[in-house]
Amino acid sequence: MSLEPGMLQAIAAVTGGDGVLTGDAAVPFYKDWRGRYQGDALAVVFPANTQQVSEVVQLCAKHRVAIVPQGGNTSLCGGSVPLTDGSQQIVLNLSRMNRIRNVDAVNYTMTVEAGCKLQSLYAAPEQADRLFPLGLTAIAPHCEIGGNLSTNAGGINVLRYGTARNLVLGLEVVLPDGRIWDGLRSLRKDNTGYDLKQLFIGAEGTLGIITAAVVKLFPLPKSVATACIAVRDPAAAVALLAHLRATCGDMINAFELISRSCLELVFRHINDTHEPFATQHEWLIITQLANVLPAPLETVLRDALLTFGAGVIEFDISADKERAERWWKLRKNIAEAQKAEGISIKHDVSVPVSRADEFIEQAGAALRNQYPGIRIVAFGHLGDGNIHYNISLLDAAHNATFIELHEHEVNRIVYEVVRKLDGSISAEHGVGQLKREEITHYRSGLELELMRTIKRSIDPLNLMNPGKVI
Ligand code: FAD
Repeated sequence: MSLEPGMLQAIAAVTGGDGVLTGDAAVPFYKDWRGRYQGDALAVVFPANTQQVSEVVQLCAKHRVAIVPQGGNTSLCGGSVPLTDGSQQIVLNLSRMNRIRNVDAVNYTMTVEAGCKLQSLYAAPEQADRLFPLGLTAIAPHCEIGGNLSTNAGGINVLRYGTARNLVLGLEVVLPDGRIWDGLRSLRKDNTGYDLKQLFIGAEGTLGIITAAVVKLFPLPKSVATACIAVRDPAAAVALLAHLRATCGDMINAFELISRSCLELVFRHINDTHEPFATQHEWLIITQLANVLPAPLETVLRDALLTFGAGVIEFDISADKERAERWWKLRKNIAEAQKAEGISIKHDVSVPVSRADEFIEQAGAALRNQYPGIRIVAFGHLGDGNIHYNISLLDAAHNATFIELHEHEVNRIVYEVVRKLDGSISAEHGVGQLKREEITHYRSGLELELMRTIKRSIDPLNLMNPGKVI
């Protein structure tokens, strides 16, 4: 790799010698979590504060070197790793900026730096009897709040609290020319012009670098009840969700769907996981309700057994954290189990909640018709109409060839069903490199033109995460 020695020395002078990594030590930061993308760069840079980010960005702008912002590097669409030609780009990793600056229990807000691991953001509010509800349960120890905001992350609690976008009151951002925008406001109401922070949330690092945020807190639930429910099919699950919402309202935090194929992978690859019921079922729901006691929830679910006939087969309820955690372990480990099994063609789609069962039925029928014998691993946040829908062969040894030959066609089949149902081909993971071409078929010409106009006006030199999103 041809280095820009002067520039890297100047960066090291800003961050300190331990703030710049090159050579073999930097290589892990150029690979994505799935092992699908392997890029290259001049260096990985670890600024320790906002001022350092600003100075590094100014140096990059001066030398026309592109910047790939990186948090926990858990992106599932190649957003956080550099492209293969690394001669004119650096990775800017925010992990050293990991301080909680402030918890304001009365204002129900917390000010955090971008590099805070998501998992590290739960304890401080809890000590103040508050909840930070962003719930990426499977990956919270690894991903960072800056990455969560830049991808507008979802997770299991969107049904009750919304996506990352809904949880932010203010941002601090370093712009592509190095200027610092201090928008760290903690106001519930602020109508002074355009809501600029929303541009950077979900932009996947293509417009600037988020260095800090003011996030919303909520009252800590006084009690939590979890239910594991066996349902006949996704249609019964959708009907049950509507029933639960009508009876329990806003108390439902999460409503997750798990198919049999997921359970089989989890039992095969994850230690100490077990069938939740004596009988095997094709579809399970794990739902969590806050501030509701097990007894009333049991009444609601007994009522559902009667209302939905064979649709709702059996259920179990627990207020005990450890027992509920055993059910959650099945859900949280699906991605890890799939990774252990081998590669697959992944989709992260959303459709209106009321049509989620139609998506699963129609996409499944179309794919099985074309590729008999494929394995469909369907699961996800049914409460938001967000289905993770992953395709592979039963024999992992033949997957690489299958994917190479058929990925395009499989995507066409799945995404056409999504289009028919007025859905989205990227619900919560983002676009990154993976869906950059794909979105051009599923967003209108006018929408793409507006996005490009915004990108050009904020980042005219195209230095922020080039080759991603747009
Ligand atoms: P990275 O992967 O490092 O970066 C993601 C994108 O944001 C990149 O484009 C990067 O350039 C940009 N970026 C990162 N930090 C900044 C910053 N400070 N400023 C500007 N741009 C930045 N996602 C969900 O939404 N819900 C889930 O339930 C979920 N579960 C997952 C489970 C597993 C096992 C895995 C591997 C991933 C999962 N994801 C999920 C996807 C991923 O974890 C999220 O997208 C997460 O928000 C990424 O955070 P990160 O810190 O790892 O960001």
